[in-house]
Amino acid sequence: MLRGKQIIYLAHCVLNQNSVVRGWERAQGAFNDIIKVVLDHNISIIQLPCPEFTFLGEERPPKTKKEYDTPEYRKVCEELAEKVIAQMKEYATHGYKILGLIGIEESPSCDTLCSKGIFMEELQKLMERDGIKISTFDISEKYTEGESKEFVQQFKEYIEKLII
Ligand code: SF4
Repeated sequence: MLRGKQIIYLAHCVLNQNSVVRGWERAQGAFNDIIKVVLDHNISIIQLPCPEFTFLGEERPPKTKKEYDTPEYRKVCEELAEKVIAQMKEYATHGYKILGLIGIEESPSCDTLCSKGIFMEELQKLMERDGIKISTFDISEKYTEGESKEFVQQFKEYIEKLII
């Protein structure tokens, strides 16, 4: 069987910078150098939904976490997160290894570490409810495609630790 059964979840815009707030894109399409690291290690990529695009669309203005933190937006995030959780559980049940969850540093929705984003808060709340433990890592807010070799190396080291 060729199936490696190793999966990583990526914030939507790691693969699609066309989804970010206009003018805030940091690549023409994807963060290619980051994606290449994942592909070079034969890890499957699952693209998370973009909660802000889902809620406010392509023309949305920039907003802070405080501005996004409404019951309506939390509900959208929770609903999206429930679907992700159902999928994670299906993979886990069948022996797949979910290596990591990659967010976006300082995003009001998708930061997984410091100032946690609302979507990731909802997702991690459900992960905790269902006993799902996954390592997290955020793409630096300073990352720009083609100009962040040091960060790509840091990401590569993170990935290599996960697959040991
Ligand atoms: S950080 Fe999250 S909400 Fe913002 S563009 Fe990326 S996927 Fe969408």
